[in-house]
Amino acid sequence: MQVLDGKKAGQAIREEIRLQVAQRLTEGKKIPHLAAILVGNNGASTTYVGAKVKACEEAGIRSTLHHFESDLTEFQLLEKIRDLNNDPDIDGILVQLPLPKQIREEEVIRAIDPEKDVDGFHPINQGLLMQGLPGFIPATPYGIVLLLQHYKIETTGKEAVVIGRSNIVGRPMSILLSQPGPAGNCTVTLCHSKTQNLNEHIRRADIVVAALGQPEFVKADMIKAGAVVIDVGITRVDNPSKKSGFELKGDVDFSNVSPLCSWITPVPGGVGPMTIAALLQNTLLACVRRNN
Ligand code: NAD
Repeated sequence: MQVLDGKKAGQAIREEIRLQVAQRLTEGKKIPHLAAILVGNNGASTTYVGAKVKACEEAGIRSTLHHFESDLTEFQLLEKIRDLNNDPDIDGILVQLPLPKQIREEEVIRAIDPEKDVDGFHPINQGLLMQGLPGFIPATPYGIVLLLQHYKIETTGKEAVVIGRSNIVGRPMSILLSQPGPAGNCTVTLCHSKTQNLNEHIRRADIVVAALGQPEFVKADMIKAGAVVIDVGITRVDNPSKKSGFELKGDVDFSNVSPLCSWITPVPGGVGPMTIAALLQNTLLACVRRNN
């Protein structure tokens, strides 16, 4: 078994981005600028946004965090997004999900200018992805593609099973794995909460992407020997022995599954850092597309 080290691969990609941003600075070109919006004080969301802002700084990308109280109205948030859409200095807009229940996420996602939608959640970008056309690919599946490419994992002709059909992870992942091109050309089965005989599907897979948000759901007896296993799940599970009071668990029972795999991502240190690297890649791309 070998570990698909997202921390290491993500760092290499971020260093490459840093060099490109520095080169832009030397050439007098615009530096990418990301606007991140956080509503409320959810612990996990605050940590994720903080990590994204810090990663921007390290890569020389400008970032501005707009932090609002949890009683923000949908109207107020849409107004903020309109302002950021109209601000020529802003290249990318990120709204950290989930949002408080008085705000409809679909409305917010649709309000973002697709050319600044560096999370790739806007229906226009999702449509472009489906047709294999250039747009913005959602950061988590894009990060997984970059990770598979970094480790030169052969995907062509392989059976891939994706567990989870969300618009931000599972569904776009299934499209990317089935498309022609790098980290593609798989025969893909997309499984979800209504899938019958889920274990049989997973057991057939050469590549498993677990994105269901159920800690340690994927067990050793579900995995074919030699499979490549990508664990997207991150769930905070109570653990009083930890200083924070919790630990992070993936969707895969790592200690029992990993001996069977050819490659596997750890949690933390697998898909999470790749998501951040992909976000920075999208932000740089947005800046290049908008300003050259
Ligand atoms: P989601 O809740 O929107 O979707 C979960 C999907 O899993 C649904 O489509 C559902 O049908 C499926 N599902 C649930 N229970 C199932 C079961 N028992 N059997 C089969 N399918 C089942 O979640 P999401 O936003 O796609 O995120 C999934 C997980 O990935 C979460 O743990 C989330 O925290 C994590 N995540 C990690 C990153 C990262 O950067 N590492 C990014 C995004 C999401």
